Amino acid sequence: MTYRSTPEVREMKERVCALHAELLRWGLVTWTSGNVSGRVPGTDVIVIKPSGVSYDDLTPELMVVTDLDGKVLEGDLSPSSDAESHNEVYRRMPETGGVVHTHSPYATAWAARAEPIPCVLTAMADEFGGEIPLGPFALIGSDAIGKGIVETLRGHRSPAVIMQNHGVFTIGKDPKSAVKAAVMTEDVARTVHISRQLGEPVPIPQADVDSLYDRYQNVYGQAPKEQ
Ligand SMILES: [Zn+2]
Repeated sequence: MTYRSTPEVREMKERVCALHAELLRWGLVTWTSGNVSGRVPGTDVIVIKPSGVSYDDLTPELMVVTDLDGKVLEGDLSPSSDAESHNEVYRRMPETGGVVHTHSPYATAWAARAEPIPCVLTAMADEFGGEIPLGPFALIGSDAIGKGIVETLRGHRSPAVIMQNHGVFTIGKDPKSAVKAAVMTEDVARTVHISRQLGEPVPIPQADVDSLYDRYQNVYGQAPKEQ
């Protein structure tokens, strides 16, 4: 298959580039530690941050375009060192249109304790449909991280997983949804952590979690406008 760039690839490079500013804005990253990727809709073409470039220097032109096996299709730089983990998610969860990785501090503190974040806030029931699950310890550079993410998130409502001793991976229908999940993960990780300092947070009964999740996913927000 010969690869040809399209306006959709160009648009995805702009979107993925711009979303890295959100990681900074919400305090999710230090130096170059986090990354966003996006799937060009309807294709197996992935746009991801280049490795080791500081967020202030990112431009759409520097974004790296790869196939699902990580072969570079466009770009002069190497893709993020987390690209293989992103690609494993895209390969095995075809509905995924965006992946984000951060070491955001509160969520990563839960990961350091190898503890899932319990569902003790209605906002968690809304967004994650339950706890934020814990994925296995895995060494960077192997395919173990990607496999651990997929195995943890499959069959789980949560779009976020905290990987033991490492950090956060989130998925979404597009890169913006994955960034939103990363922001929300850090927000609830922080609140539940603070709550823990003063006592034991109270779990929400499963039936209530289910109804909150259903309402938020299906009813909340603006009704679609009639065409
Ligand atoms: Zn990492």
